[in-house]
Amino acid sequence: MNYNVAVIPGDGIGPEIVAEARKVLDAVGERFGHTFSYTELLMGGASIDVHGVPLTDEALAAAKASDAVLLGAVGGVVGKDSWYELPPNLRPEAGLLAIRKGLELFANLRPAYLYDELRAACPLRDDIIGDGFDMIVVRELTGGVYFGDRKTEEIDGVVTAVDEMKYSEEEIRRIAIKGFEIARKRRKNVISVDKANVLDTSRLWNRVVAEVAKEYPDVTLTNMLVDNCAMQLVKNPRQFDVILTENMFGDILSDEASMITGSIGMLSSASLGATKLGLYEPSHGAAPDIAGQDKANPIATILSAAMMLRYSFDLDQEADAVEAAVKQVLAEGYRTVDIMSEGQKQVGCKEMGDLIAARV
Ligand code: NAD
Repeated sequence: MNYNVAVIPGDGIGPEIVAEARKVLDAVGERFGHTFSYTELLMGGASIDVHGVPLTDEALAAAKASDAVLLGAVGGVVGKDSWYELPPNLRPEAGLLAIRKGLELFANLRPAYLYDELRAACPLRDDIIGDGFDMIVVRELTGGVYFGDRKTEEIDGVVTAVDEMKYSEEEIRRIAIKGFEIARKRRKNVISVDKANVLDTSRLWNRVVAEVAKEYPDVTLTNMLVDNCAMQLVKNPRQFDVILTENMFGDILSDEASMITGSIGMLSSASLGATKLGLYEPSHGAAPDIAGQDKANPIATILSAAMMLRYSFDLDQEADAVEAAVKQVLAEGYRTVDIMSEGQKQVGCKEMGDLIAARV
């Protein structure tokens, strides 16, 4: 098969890490008989430099016409890069919001997986880690309190602020379906996180999620209150497979889940909509402090490309091969500087990409 991938290197370390992910995709193509065609697009500071805006209509249209989008990162340093002299809606990061909105991506997926070789980076006790954890947070991305009406006003001389939290059945149903579909590709266990003892949005959430669950009798559903979930993540992270939750809870819990894996350079992410078209990017930013020095860890971006294989192209075997190659390279002791520890072999961004591609 031929797959058209829109590639957005972006700024900072973006071009370096994306180049390594492409290398790994090409290795997958060679081994499994696929071809990946790449269309490079500008976004963020790189687009501002050429077009004066962080994302042009043409770039967005090209992304929409692709089978999937692979993104590095965008952004620079406030006070150093002239991009930040522009109004907020024209700065590099505005490109991110514009592409997520333009592609109608309502589901955000962030896996938190602890590599045995990187246990030392995990802030949890050894007995809690046990034989490791492997979960994914499926977060609703375009509804809830972040998108409700808000206002700050003075009522009887007292300044008062209000943020509206709103969800429709349809918004809940489509994210729940994503959560259960993803669970089917994993260990078939969904924990739906809510605050149903207080919030009406959560009570509706639970009702709709329970309805969707009936269509997936092979997947187990459990409900968990968000405050309990925050505790359970550090008390017993091994119990989680898929965490399905609304926008704000997911924002907070996905950061907590990623923190317990220890290293920002290892964390992939995906954003999906109603179709197979998805946006795949590392969870970290453009790391301008190490850009152009061959120091960046490309693994988060390579694992994001593996998610693309799995969720946009349904190439599970190929995604498994990439994840296994990453594991093998770590087991052989290769480390970029951010995950380096005593006795291991330090390599740069390019060499890490070469090593993984060679093991696909
Ligand atoms: P950052 O994630 O870019 O960097 C934080 C720290 O982690 C830095 O010390 C950096 O060197 C290190 N780091 C990050 N990724 C790494 C990797 N792959 N390998 C090794 N080390 C890595 O966050 P920041 O410094 O807050 O932001 C820098 C710029 O990136 C800002 O302009 C910010 O707006 C932007 N940003 C973009 C995105 C995105 O494109 N999705 C996300 C977050 C931040």
